Amino acid sequence: MLRRVLEDFEIKEHLKRGYQLVKGPQILKLELWEKSGHLDNYRENMYFTEVDKKKYGLKPMNCLAHMLIYKSRLRSYKDLPLRYFELGTVNRHEKSGVLHGLFRVREFTQDDAHILCTPDQLHQEILNIIEFVKDVMDIFGFDFGIELSTRPAKSIGDDIDWERAINALRSALDSYGFSYDTNEGEGAFYGPKIDFKLKDCLKRSWQCATIQCDFVLPERFDLTYIGDDGEKHRPVMLHRVILGSLERFLGVLIEHYAGAFPVWLSPVQAKILTISEMQNDYAKTVYNKLIENEIRTEIDMRNESLGLKIREAQIQKIPYMLIIGNREMEDRGVSPRLRTGENMGFLKIENLVEKIKNRCKKEINEGSLINNREDR
Ligand SMILES: [Zn+2]
Repeated sequence: MLRRVLEDFEIKEHLKRGYQLVKGPQILKLELWEKSGHLDNYRENMYFTEVDKKKYGLKPMNCLAHMLIYKSRLRSYKDLPLRYFELGTVNRHEKSGVLHGLFRVREFTQDDAHILCTPDQLHQEILNIIEFVKDVMDIFGFDFGIELSTRPAKSIGDDIDWERAINALRSALDSYGFSYDTNEGEGAFYGPKIDFKLKDCLKRSWQCATIQCDFVLPERFDLTYIGDDGEKHRPVMLHRVILGSLERFLGVLIEHYAGAFPVWLSPVQAKILTISEMQNDYAKTVYNKLIENEIRTEIDMRNESLGLKIREAQIQKIPYMLIIGNREMEDRGVSPRLRTGENMGFLKIENLVEKIKNRCKKEINEGSLINNREDR
């Protein structure tokens, strides 16, 4: 559920910023991986298979399919920039010794996008991505550091393209006034990149967003657009993720919040706790009203004491515990208790729904400002 909430959030944030949702296949023909340079530069991390005597590679990255989508029709400068977004599941062979919980796995899903634009649009597109990263990190309450990585020994492309790409990334960072470290030789094999390292509450640093500037793959796959001069031109491609691997990001989030997620992100937002079985029917009515209003709700009608039910919900750090006794049943409402121990007093169900919805909206609009406060 947590993952789904995060995915829905991502889709909404991308649509708002002019991205298109796309979906590529999991396996692609070997010759495509050869052409992209993955076979020469990334082979040890890839899985291979054979279908009808033809060789295929499982995708370790989403770029290839996105380029094929671009190539599926003639593009004009008026169509650009094109921003393809996919919650793209990739497979990478990692040595068993480095696998680690949700943090390092062999199959993971990236919030991956490829932006195809004209060289003139590059600067603005990079600025937009930096803004996007900043907005999202603020919603979750993370600070971040920035690193710029240059050309590695194992790489493809001309020096002049690499130089142009590095300058584009550098000038975008400079116009934001961000300070950053430079990692010589740590770029991707097809282009230089900016890495954003988020800092969690335990002061650990985690790789999240990257922006990679790529003049090489558009060349290799002969991607073109028709310019206002009627001639064919080469677009630039930006590879970028915001959260990176959803698995790793979830791992970081769980520890960062110590399980006490903001309300909008909580897998269970409200739990109904009955005092005795006399309130069971009414509890079900409340439950139905809440789920109809898209509040993620559970119900505890066990024959246990209210104290025990509260303690258990408290350990699960559920934002709203809705206690129902005879008074709540007679007056058709609930008495919510927060995980801080604070009571909200008697509320009609409609009022509670409104309060929860407002709280979620506020958490997303105001980000860490509100997440650090427990008032509802
Ligand atoms: Zn890519």
